[in-house]
Amino acid sequence: MIEFNDVSMKYKTNDVLALDHVSVRIDDGEFVFVVGASGAGKSSFLNVIMGQERVDSGTVIVGPYNLTKIKKKELPYLRRMLGIVFQDFRLIPKMTVYDNVAFALRVIGVGERIIRKRVRYVLRLVDLSAKAKCLPNQLSTGERQRVAIARALVNNPGVIIADEPTGNLDPVLSGEIMSLFDKINSLGATVVVVTHDLELVHQFDHRIVTIENGKIISDVPSHAAYAKLQAQNEEIARQLEPVPEPQPIPTPAPEPAQEEAPAEEASEPEETEPRRIEQMPVDPSLSADELVAAFSEPQTEPDAPEPEVTPEPAAEPTEMFIVEEETVELLDAKDEGTEVDSDGEE
Ligand code: ADP
Repeated sequence: MIEFNDVSMKYKTNDVLALDHVSVRIDDGEFVFVVGASGAGKSSFLNVIMGQERVDSGTVIVGPYNLTKIKKKELPYLRRMLGIVFQDFRLIPKMTVYDNVAFALRVIGVGERIIRKRVRYVLRLVDLSAKAKCLPNQLSTGERQRVAIARALVNNPGVIIADEPTGNLDPVLSGEIMSLFDKINSLGATVVVVTHDLELVHQFDHRIVTIENGKIISDVPSHAAYAKLQAQNEEIARQLEPVPEPQPIPTPAPEPAQEEAPAEEASEPEETEPRRIEQMPVDPSLSADELVAAFSEPQTEPDAPEPEVTPEPAAEPTEMFIVEEETVELLDAKDEGTEVDSDGEE
């Protein structure tokens, strides 16, 4: 992660304010183009990331390092995290392609066996395995820049920084080199490319940070990142939408239920009472007092409602019992399964 927080930087020799209250954050795995006219402050921005220039105010974080507090002896470790590609390649003329790439590892004391493995891997990545024994002057300009990229990659840095890497290349080669950076980014590295070539920038879908007079005047995400952000916002909006609605919807729902429930309750006593009367055996020879006594009898009889109440609670234990039976069956089946598994393992 690279983070500038309100950073300003002035060159002491000429008092030029190269960075003016710059705040920007580049996450791991991002690909960012830094664009702007000549003298805008693009290289100064990279020089600060590489620890070559100290800032006057604000804070700069690069990976685990706070560059406003970094000690001199920590600078080599910061630079090992960064693979740097320059416009003018900066290859050592008397060394072969292989040795130019291996050199970056030899100076930090890596063993030859690991060097061989890493150099072969990165030369394959930049499609230069066949030119490993060539000297730089035996290569085309595009090939030389690919060697420089291989050298930047060989230490397996998390961040690749390129300052006008296509400045000395024609449009076709520039496109090829930029595609190579694309490939490196897709392999997981963070890539920051400074360029003034807007035509080239627009051939790729990456974030574009524009610097002018030391200030960031625009920061445009890639279409892919923008679409992702938009989808996330739509999802959040969708999740928020139903919140005010559920309140009025369930309110009318319980009303009919409440109406139905008392209607059932009211009809029950109406239905049961006449039934009791109809079921009463009436003897026409009985006197009025005997009839009153006879009609009062069923009111005192508690037997009639009992059969209606009993089946309902009876249903619950029956269900529970079934579940228990099933559980027992399942447990049996499980036991059998365990035996099969342990057999299988054996
Ligand atoms: P860019 O990379 O966008 O062309 P730079 O970062 O190189 O811009 O330059 C930003 C400003 O800082 C310019 O005005 C430039 O003249 C000045 N500048 C760059 N490097 C130095 C330096 N080493 N010493 C003094 N001034 C510098």
